[in-house]
Amino acid sequence: MSSKRKVAILGATGAVGQRFIQLLQGHPWFKIEVLAASERSAGKKYKDACNWTMECELPKEIAEMPVADATVESVEKAGEVDLIFSSLPGDLAGPVEEEFAALYPVFSKASAHRMEKDVPLLIPEVNPEHVNLIPIQKKNRGWKGFITTDPNCSTIQMAITLKPLMQFGLRQVIVTTMQALSGAGYPGVPSLDIIDNVVPFISKEEDKVENEAQKILGTFDGTKVQTADFCVSASCNRVNVKDGHLESVFVKLDRCPSIEEVEEAFQKFRGEPQKLKLPSAPQNPIVVRKEPNRPQPRFDRDEGKGMSVVVGRIRKDPILTVKYMVLGHNTIRGGAGAGILSAELMVAKGLA
Ligand code: NAP
Repeated sequence: MSSKRKVAILGATGAVGQRFIQLLQGHPWFKIEVLAASERSAGKKYKDACNWTMECELPKEIAEMPVADATVESVEKAGEVDLIFSSLPGDLAGPVEEEFAALYPVFSKASAHRMEKDVPLLIPEVNPEHVNLIPIQKKNRGWKGFITTDPNCSTIQMAITLKPLMQFGLRQVIVTTMQALSGAGYPGVPSLDIIDNVVPFISKEEDKVENEAQKILGTFDGTKVQTADFCVSASCNRVNVKDGHLESVFVKLDRCPSIEEVEEAFQKFRGEPQKLKLPSAPQNPIVVRKEPNRPQPRFDRDEGKGMSVVVGRIRKDPILTVKYMVLGHNTIRGGAGAGILSAELMVAKGLA
């Protein structure tokens, strides 16, 4: 990489925006040039606009940076950038990201564009060939830049584990999620709603988990993605955990592999990021734990610097075929880390 690409982060003060800042410290390919958020934060120094909740200290040079408004005009005034990471709220990301995409590559964490036919819904280990939608999207829309999206944080970790199971004929998935508080952003769920409690509802979450995986695991046929033919039933819960979504997954397969075959399929799974040695690629996208009481959020969410998903309790299912638990760090593998890995893949492929 000759010189580092300069990036802007939209939604830089939020839970995912802060994680972008943390993960981009010392990144070999990307340098933070502009931080942007709502008009409530615009014009303030970052340290005054944001309640920093990461485990590390707020980097000094970031603390003193001014926050721009999340508009093209305001970002361009704040600095010259090459690409955009967007962690804007889903309900307002749509038009804002389109304005940026007319000029820049946009890597979006928001749901607004995920299901559009010419927009990749990317997990670099799972469907790197979907980047071929980019030239089609640019042509369709007459944009200099583009939008690529990452899946919902609960979908990502599930879809990574479903990919190696496809060789056995994937038919049905039933998933119950136990989702961390940081998944609701900052300040998120009021403490009195969640202390001593589990909330069995997360607005719009089940729709995303039930519909995104078929696109992710679909096949790019040269012009579009043919969605994969299986169905998902999801039940999503908010639990009193800071970071790390835990999911209980039940899968119906055409074949009946042994537990050892399933374990081996998970353990051997590697993708393009590992081949290309992308800077944020974990060595093992899926780590299998054999203890009867793992994975657990507190112990396992930082596996592979938060970029591996951790599977455990792989068992035969008496009704479907196989069942297991999977844990992923929602603001890293499910959040900023996924965005950065997608950007690394695009840069490596000469698309950004
Ligand atoms: P968050 O903590 O609520 O942060 C939202 C960010 O958006 C803040 O920087 C906020 O700035 C900014 N914002 C709010 N209203 C705005 C407006 N009108 N104009 C411009 N900026 C505005 O949310 P989050 O959890 O980081 O989530 C951000 C996005 O990532 C969402 O689309 C979410 O669905 C997605 N996501 C979240 C996770 C997760 O685990 N949290 C994982 C994957 C994807 P101010 O501080 O100025 O209000």
